[in-house]
Amino acid sequence: MRKWMSNMDDVEVICPYCHQLVLLVLDPEARGSFIQDCDLCCRPWQVQAQRDENGEWLINVERT
Ligand SMILES: [Zn+2]
Repeated sequence: MRKWMSNMDDVEVICPYCHQLVLLVLDPEARGSFIQDCDLCCRPWQVQAQRDENGEWLINVERT
């Protein structure tokens, strides 16, 4: 399982369906898991978003 880290509020992730690089824009207040549709193929991702103590995002994207 691949995870992404970012110190910005957006992160480029690989879609688990279409395998394209897609920019995921994060709500700075978002925590935990939520559903986000892929911009390219419109299929739903299960996104898990955590922030560490340095404010860095740790993102995991998988198929719902
Ligand atoms: Zn996609």
